[in-house]
Amino acid sequence: MIRFSRFAHTFELGEAVTLYHSLRMKPVYLSRDSFEDLQAWLAGPFCIDFDSAPDAIKEEVLQLKKWKILTSREDEDEKVLEFIKSRIPTPAISVCYMILSEQCNLACKYCFLGNNDTDKRSHFNLQNMSIETAEKAVDFFLKQLKTSGLDFEKEKPVVIFYGGEPLVNYPTLVYIAEKLLSLKESEKCLKNLEMSMVTNGLLLDDDRIKKLKELGIGVAISVDGFTEEENRMRIDRSGKVVFGKILEKIERCQELGLNISLSVTLSEETIKNKENILKLVNAYNIHSFGFNIMMSSDTFIVPDSYNEEAAQFIIDEFVELRKLGIYEDRMMRKLDSFAKAQVYYSDCAATCGGQIVIAPNGQVGICHGCLYDKKYFVTDIDDQAFDCKTNDSYIEWSQLTPVNHEECLDCPALGICGGGCPLNAMYLKPGNTIHSIDTRFCSHAKKTLDFLIRDLYRVVQKRTVLDAK
Ligand code: SF4
Ligand code: SF4
Repeated sequence: MIRFSRFAHTFELGEAVTLYHSLRMKPVYLSRDSFEDLQAWLAGPFCIDFDSAPDAIKEEVLQLKKWKILTSREDEDEKVLEFIKSRIPTPAISVCYMILSEQCNLACKYCFLGNNDTDKRSHFNLQNMSIETAEKAVDFFLKQLKTSGLDFEKEKPVVIFYGGEPLVNYPTLVYIAEKLLSLKESEKCLKNLEMSMVTNGLLLDDDRIKKLKELGIGVAISVDGFTEEENRMRIDRSGKVVFGKILEKIERCQELGLNISLSVTLSEETIKNKENILKLVNAYNIHSFGFNIMMSSDTFIVPDSYNEEAAQFIIDEFVELRKLGIYEDRMMRKLDSFAKAQVYYSDCAATCGGQIVIAPNGQVGICHGCLYDKKYFVTDIDDQAFDCKTNDSYIEWSQLTPVNHEECLDCPALGICGGGCPLNAMYLKPGNTIHSIDTRFCSHAKKTLDFLIRDLYRVVQKRTVLDAK
């Protein structure tokens, strides 16, 4: 008998219906009449094998068979899942977060690192990363790249300068960047090196802007929105809003020719207004964005309604920004997976066991969100023998992907999801662990899939009309 796969999902599109396998990821669009014929055939006594499909829907049935949406084999779903699981990447380092300082000049109210909390702040190292530690940190990273087994002609090794606030320790930043650049000639794995920094921007000045440009470091300035009101949670330690000053820095970067991107944490205020982002894009000539959905922590809980609204905001802005040729990172990663029909296993380099985070004191961990208690900090830069492939924590994190979650297997967004952030999942409610589901992220993944399927249908429709002319 022919039946729908357990991974098959139906999307209603008015006059059409889409059938979609969440792991093969190729939508098949059917007219409503064909869909009804298909349902009648599947429910009837003549649905014995694919050859018995009525002529009127034969072509559609073959498409549905090809993408495993319809199946005749009992074990087919199991086989597909097994195959997809066999492709889960094993730990291999390509990304390094250099935590130049755990201190920050701001105290944003939602900071997931905990810089808004006096108690947590006291756990952070007061010492910035020294040049001596930086030297060893570069060597450690280099060794991890060389033993990763990755092909760095294809993959890009990435160094992200991070904090606290990385510009608190500017000399070490310059030291590391110059050292890496000087090694590019002799170390093949660094040939395609990409360096970036996430900063609140307040400690930028003309000399630093020029130097960052010269070093080729991509600068992402973090903001919470596009007006002072939207940035009211971004405050300094005395409680003052700093958005006006950040805008001055952005303007200066533009004047001195340093292209910056904005890393936007979507505050509740920001997602209420969809116009402000476009005003900022036009006023400051911004070409690149990353949107961050707010995370809960043990000191800051995000309201339930927020997730849906933030997910919708990201989609609406994606539609507006692409008209200007600007593509937002988070959506692009999902779009890429959908367009290539390739399962997107993890939404951050930590959950594919692909990153190291080097703390100012040389401790090495998986996730920079764990800086304050150093959980999952598994070794230090003096450990010459460290190999993430055999490290229990790295192996555990590399398996944190929706295809390993029984609760995710019936979700339409399974293939494009990536699973969000395990740390956020842990903080969502008492008793959760990194193995729980980051439900904050589900609205985003599901809405995005729905959008992509409808968007592609519009494109297909348009093309059909053009072809007919
Ligand atoms: S687990 Fe969460 S906090 Fe940690 S690196 Fe991934 S997304 Fe960031
Ligand atoms: S995490 Fe949520 S959206 Fe992602 S696959 Fe699981 S249930 Fe679906």
